[in-house]
This record gives sequence, C-alpha cells and structure tokens, in this order.
Amino acid sequence: MTVKLETVNEENLDPKDWLQTTKLGKQMVEDMMQYLKTVRERKIWQPIPTEVREEFRRSLPLDGMSQQEIYDDFKKHILPYPMGNIHPRFWGWVIGTGTPFGALADFLASIMNPNQGGGEHIANHIETQVLDWFKEMLGYPSDASGILLSGGSMANLLGMTVARNTKIESVRETGLIETGKQFTYYSSVEAHSSVVKAAELLGIGSKYLRKIPVDENFEIIISKLEEQIKQDKENGMIPLCIVGNAGTVNTGAVDDLNAIADICERENLWFHVDGAFGSLVHLSEKYKSMVKGMERSDSLAFDAHKWLFMPYEIAVTLVKDRKAHYQAFVYTPEYLAHADRGVHSADLWYSDYGLQLSRGFRSLKVWMSLKEHGIKKYGRLIEQNINQAKYLENIINNNDRLENMAPVPMNIVCFRMNPGDRDQVALNKLNEEILIELHERGIAVPSYTTLNNNYLIRVAITNHRSELSDFDLLVASVLEIGDELISSGM
Ligand SMILES: *Cc1c(COP(=O)(O)O)cnc(C)c1O
Repeated sequence: MTVKLETVNEENLDPKDWLQTTKLGKQMVEDMMQYLKTVRERKIWQPIPTEVREEFRRSLPLDGMSQQEIYDDFKKHILPYPMGNIHPRFWGWVIGTGTPFGALADFLASIMNPNQGGGEHIANHIETQVLDWFKEMLGYPSDASGILLSGGSMANLLGMTVARNTKIESVRETGLIETGKQFTYYSSVEAHSSVVKAAELLGIGSKYLRKIPVDENFEIIISKLEEQIKQDKENGMIPLCIVGNAGTVNTGAVDDLNAIADICERENLWFHVDGAFGSLVHLSEKYKSMVKGMERSDSLAFDAHKWLFMPYEIAVTLVKDRKAHYQAFVYTPEYLAHADRGVHSADLWYSDYGLQLSRGFRSLKVWMSLKEHGIKKYGRLIEQNINQAKYLENIINNNDRLENMAPVPMNIVCFRMNPGDRDQVALNKLNEEILIELHERGIAVPSYTTLNNNYLIRVAITNHRSELSDFDLLVASVLEIGDELISSGM
C-alpha cells in the first residue's frame, strides 16, 4: 500500500525575508553601539511611567507581528528604562557594566547555539581553555578543574556542594539523615546571602552555618572561629567546611585566608573561598597581596560579570581536586552515555561537573573579551577602581559634613552626610532621602547598607566607565541634595 502524501504547508521559524532581517539586524547593531557610546549623556535611571507599565500587561500574542514593529516597541518601551548599571555612575550593590564586544560575543554564541552539557564540539574546548586561563590568572594549579556558571550564588553552591559530597562519602546515596550526624559549616557574619542559602539547600541548615563575629575591619575573628569549631566537636557535631571571604559584599573585607587555610589543614576541613569580586584583585600586582592564601583553598567561586565587566550571566567555580569535583556530580544514564567517535565522543562532559545538563555557550564572551583586552588591562582597571575608592574616601575624610563609616580596603566606600546636629534616627532618615533623590534625579546609583544601625550610602565600584570626576559629582550632589532637604525642614 502506498501512502499518499497530502500537500502540507510545513513551517519553520526562520525569517520569510532574510534580506529584511539582515537589514534590521544591521540597524540594531548600529543603534546599540550608538546607545552605548552615548550612555554618559543620559540620565542613569528613570521611573517607569504607568502607561509603560500597562504595555507589559497585554495578553499573550496569538499571531505574529513584524520584526520591525517588535523592535520599535523595544526602543520605545524597554530601552529607555534600564537598571542603569551600564552608566559610569552606577555603583549599587556589586554590579558589572558589560562591554560592547562582550555583547557581540553573546550574539555570536546565540547564533551557534550549542549545548554545553557535553559532546565533542568546539564550545567545550573553549570552556576548557578559559578555565585554564582563569586558573593561571588566579594562581590555581593547572590540573585543577572548574566550570562556568550563571553567577556567584551558583558558584558558591557548587563549591559548598563538592565540600559536602566529598567529606560525607555516602551522602549522594543516603542523604544526611541516615548518617545520624549534624554537620557544620563556618563563615563570618559578613558572608553573602548566597552562602546561607547554599547551607540551607545542602541540608546543613542556616543554624549550622556558624556565623562567626568580625573585628573592626569586618574580618572574621580567627580565635572565635577556632573556639566554635572546638565547641561543636565537643558537642558531637562534625565540622565540614569553612567559607572564607575574599571581598565581603558590605565593605570589601578580606578574611585572613592563610589562617583559615591553616585551620582547614589541621582540622581536615574543606576550604571554600567566596571571591565573587574580591578574588580578582589578584590581577593587580599592587594589590594582589590582599588575597594571599586564596590559592590554598579547595574551591574558589568568583564572578566574571562583576569585576571582569563581562555581560551577565557568567561566573566560575574552580576546584583543586578534579576527582572530588567529578565524583560530586557525575551521573550517567544510558541516554547520556559517552562514545568513542562522533558527537558523543568527548572525554570531558561539563554536565558531569555540575547540576545543569543543558548549558549555553557562556565561554565565548569570556574568550573573546580576554583576547580583546588582554589580562593586563583588566588588572589596570581593577587598580583604577580601587584608586577611585581611595579618592572618594579621601574627599569624604576632608569634608567635615561627610563621614566615612567603614574601612576602605578595596573598592567599597560606606559613608553618610552628617551635619553634626542630629541623632541617629534623623541621620538615617536624611541619608535615605539623599540616596533616593540621587536615583530619582538620575544622577548616580549607589545603594545602601546598614552598619551598626547606621544607614549608609554605599558605593561599590566595579565599573570600567567611571572616572574621578564622577565621584566629584557624586559628593557635590550629596551635599547639595542634603542642604536642600535640611532647608526644607528635614
Ligand atoms: C555578588 C556576590 C555574590 C553572588 O553573586 P551573584 O553573581 O550575584 O549570584 C556572592 N558573594 C559576594 C561577596 C558577592 O558580592
């Protein structure tokens, strides 16, 4: 019996008119390069008007519309309302800026669109190469392993998971309950929220992530750390891992990493370093001694989308013991079996080194960016940001109406305006208002933090576009806004 083929209209998602899409694409590149080139001339941020919010409540599109219309919509309703972090005066939280060439690299990565879960294809070789470069950059041994991830939070989770799965051999099979033991992790009170969340996810529990007090420099107090470990052991608990900070999110403090490494060696604990941004000072000859001891860690987590200025999302975990890293995650069912030849044949499958199976081509923007600028320039930019922080610190110290509220070891400055005639509550209110005005007037975006119950304007500089004059403008604006608020009765 022969099957009669009916005429069917088969479809695909490619453009009907390639020429038109090509033309639009060229226009997009032109517009976006112009947009980046003129970023300094625009306000850093503006509130989203109600009409624009309404645009994003429209219902699900049933039929398609033209690419040109969609792009026009993007330009009208999306592009004018950015977070602001590509602007030279964005210093909120710890946020990176991206680069034009990095964005183009992401475009190329999307065009090739490989899946980096595994297989023998070029993208995986590029990931291997950039991981080798990262090891070299940060003083990690060349036989260490690693993986690219979405961000520092995932990078901390990954390192802290390898710690658990290595130190508790049976845990992948039995879970924690069957061990009948309570395990403990350690970090300082200044550890990032992602470290706490990781401890929760790993079944350790945030209570058993022991948050050790810090000294006046916001660095972990080593004697208290030792005391807590001793006490926990006496109470029948099993210490597994210490998470050291190379650059805390609040103030950029670096723990005494050598002292932590010594404890880990002595107590047979896993040493993980959260070096989200701070670890990168290792690229600066002048400042690298700040993170000495970091190279003694068992795992090191850091972001490339913060202080390497690459477009979101890109972070890294390096793990010194390749076998431990592999054993923590490898799981190969039949449908993922590796073979000797063809696309299955790769020796190394990144899905064996983490939770993600499908993975995007993150390595390309790293590869292209590092080649574009060379690593020396990144070192210079990191020094430039640290020098800018010191410059700002200095202006503040020389103005009797401004107050520096924390040491500035790295690239973070926490300060406030203090006219000298009001209590803590009033000062907090004044500085909160100043910060909001800075945002709403589109001048600059620092964020805030609270140290010892003081509300502080917090400037964290991981921005390759900032110049010294931007900090002059910041200070002048803080004083001007503050004076306005005071004269209006605040
Ligand atoms: C930003 C940050 C993280 C989290 O990284 P993400 O990329 O935002 O997930 C962790 N630790 C520190 C110290 C950070 O500054």
